[in-house]
Amino acid sequence: MSRLLPAATVTSAVVAAIVGASSGATVGILTAIVVGAAAAALLRWFEGRRVARLTAQVDAWGRGDSGVVMTGGARWRELGAALNRVAAVYDEQRRQLAEERPWRHDLVDALASPAVLFDADGQAAAANAHARDLLGVTSIGTGIIETLGSARLADAVERARREGAHVAVDAELGDRQVTASIAVVGRETLVILTDRTRERRIEEVRRNFVVNASHELKTPAMAIQTLSEALEILAAREPARIPELVARLNEEADRLVHLVHDLLDLRRLEEATLVSATTVDLVPLIGRVVADLDQTARDRQIRIDVDAVETAFVRGDHDDLVLVLRNLVANAVQYNRDGGIVTIELSREAGDWRVDVADTGIGIPQHDLPRIFERFYRVDVARSRKTGGTGLGLSIVRHAVERHGGRIHVESLLGEGSRFTVRLPAAADQAPST
Ligand code: ADP
Repeated sequence: MSRLLPAATVTSAVVAAIVGASSGATVGILTAIVVGAAAAALLRWFEGRRVARLTAQVDAWGRGDSGVVMTGGARWRELGAALNRVAAVYDEQRRQLAEERPWRHDLVDALASPAVLFDADGQAAAANAHARDLLGVTSIGTGIIETLGSARLADAVERARREGAHVAVDAELGDRQVTASIAVVGRETLVILTDRTRERRIEEVRRNFVVNASHELKTPAMAIQTLSEALEILAAREPARIPELVARLNEEADRLVHLVHDLLDLRRLEEATLVSATTVDLVPLIGRVVADLDQTARDRQIRIDVDAVETAFVRGDHDDLVLVLRNLVANAVQYNRDGGIVTIELSREAGDWRVDVADTGIGIPQHDLPRIFERFYRVDVARSRKTGGTGLGLSIVRHAVERHGGRIHVESLLGEGSRFTVRLPAAADQAPST
């Protein structure tokens, strides 16, 4: 009302001046004009107030506060009602969106693979625990490249967003190899990662195995071929050398047979399930292995000490357990110094039987320790070959032990010796079933 008052005062003054100067009819017209103008101004003032109130209400409604309440004439009330209908639709959509967001986040959390959901602005809206581990993500709300840490992945996500299409891409994330499957879901983009590192590593090991096995088989096979050709020639020219060549021929043939046996053992042991388990006493088994290696040890003045118990029953495959002990004790003799000692100790540790095979030999460098159980891995290739080693022994041992639910551990000091410890679950103390 305050803005109206000065106008009314001015209007009254003008009317007074005219009244003082003119006839009655003129005064009547002028008064009507002035009153009309005043009424129009009053109406504009009321409408201005309504529009201001409506603006404030629509603003408040936009912030989610309340609907629009209109007072005044029918048209104003209709406008208010129409706005309220729009508001109802908008509120419903907002409610659905609010309901969907946690649902989508739950879905991302429930996925078994690392998954990240990016919102319409390209910010990470959700990332499950697998993704946080793989990507090292500590908080969401970061951009695509910062979240994924790979330009190749980020480009693929941008492409999927641009084209609204599904994109699959392989990428490297540090030392991990991943495949990303990127799908645009509404205005959001879901990235599901599959860690292929282990798979690729297995493929690589398999490839290397074929290459290594072929190479290992080729060496004695070619030696046999060369020796038999030499025999043919020397039979006529230098018959005195025939025994020497035959001995070498036998050696290479033995190496070939040994290698084929080891490869077959390994193949069998790689299949995790133990088909025919019986109760096996480790004590006589150790006795048999020691007896078999006795002569080899004596040849190099190596002593084999056995510190055993009366019986040590485990559930397992007798032949597999012989392989475990024979390989460990043979290595302890093989990589010992002349005049050295091999100690075999059998003891009970919690629910396990523990077998320690220790030697006073050349030892194994620390950096080789994690690799000696790999197929064909040798610390000193020449030495292993010279002594007829195949490089498969410890791999066979590890597979056999793990197939029995056991574990193997090694400690070694270069130049001082090594200790291999095998733990096998003990069978309930009972007589052997075979
Ligand atoms: P190999 O047939 O060459 O003996 P293994 O798989 O049995 O193959 O052993 C792998 C490698 O581990 C060997 O070549 C050798 O370098 C090392 N090694 C195994 N046992 C011992 C040991 N007791 N002392 C020292 N080195 C060992």
